[in-house]
Amino acid sequence: MIFILTNDKKRDDGRAFDEIRPLKIEAGVLERADGSAYLEVGGNKILVAVYGPRESYIRRLLRPNTGVIRCRYNMAPFSVDDRKRPGPDRRSIEISKITAEALRPSLMLESFPRSMVDVFIEVIEAEGGTRCAGITAASVALADAGIPMKDIVVGCAAGKFDDQIVLDLSEKEDKEGQADVPVAIMPRTGDVTLLQSDGDLTEEEFEQALDLAIEGCKKISEVQKEALKVRYSKE
Ligand code: UDP
Repeated sequence: MIFILTNDKKRDDGRAFDEIRPLKIEAGVLERADGSAYLEVGGNKILVAVYGPRESYIRRLLRPNTGVIRCRYNMAPFSVDDRKRPGPDRRSIEISKITAEALRPSLMLESFPRSMVDVFIEVIEAEGGTRCAGITAASVALADAGIPMKDIVVGCAAGKFDDQIVLDLSEKEDKEGQADVPVAIMPRTGDVTLLQSDGDLTEEEFEQALDLAIEGCKKISEVQKEALKVRYSKE
């Protein structure tokens, strides 16, 4: 079967197939962190705090020629319908790891040998797509911390729901859909720093989902830049 990506069918929440949920980003929301950001996309509410670069106090993590980034993604117990058991689980450990990997290529950590940068991502309310939203918010918080960066990494997922390729899956589309493709890019170069795929897609559908997610990333990137402009115009 040849899959055609032309679809006038509206989604459950009224969005077109290529529409992202309402998005809001604010940089510099925490006094005690070196950098911070707050992001809302649809029903997701995410707060990020960045500390560093500071001298590594964990010996085994210390690298003589470069700095190191560590990420902790955490979901609040009240962030989802069924109470989430506090503390790390397999999912949050995985997301913490892929988040650090998605952000690392954008950071000029070689300028900070023996140091570390800590990124704390707190999901206060979750409604599908939190890993990408966490990466998007974390990159704004890293820029807010004044860490030299090559680009502001941005994340967005696409996937398949009801036999259609759609952008920025809602929680229902994420949970009941046929596939989920979270993507993060460095928009200046187009480098992909995160690419996951869960579910069943043909090669062609996968290409379409990837292209759509990249288009979503580009739209979100504009909101990131605006948030940083607002932050620096305040100063
Ligand atoms: N979710 C949940 N309980 C959990 C983990 C996730 O209800 O313990 C929900 C939450 O809304 C999340 C969605 O399921 O956003 C999809 O989770 P997934 O693992 O696909 O990651 P995400 O889409 O958030 O990056």
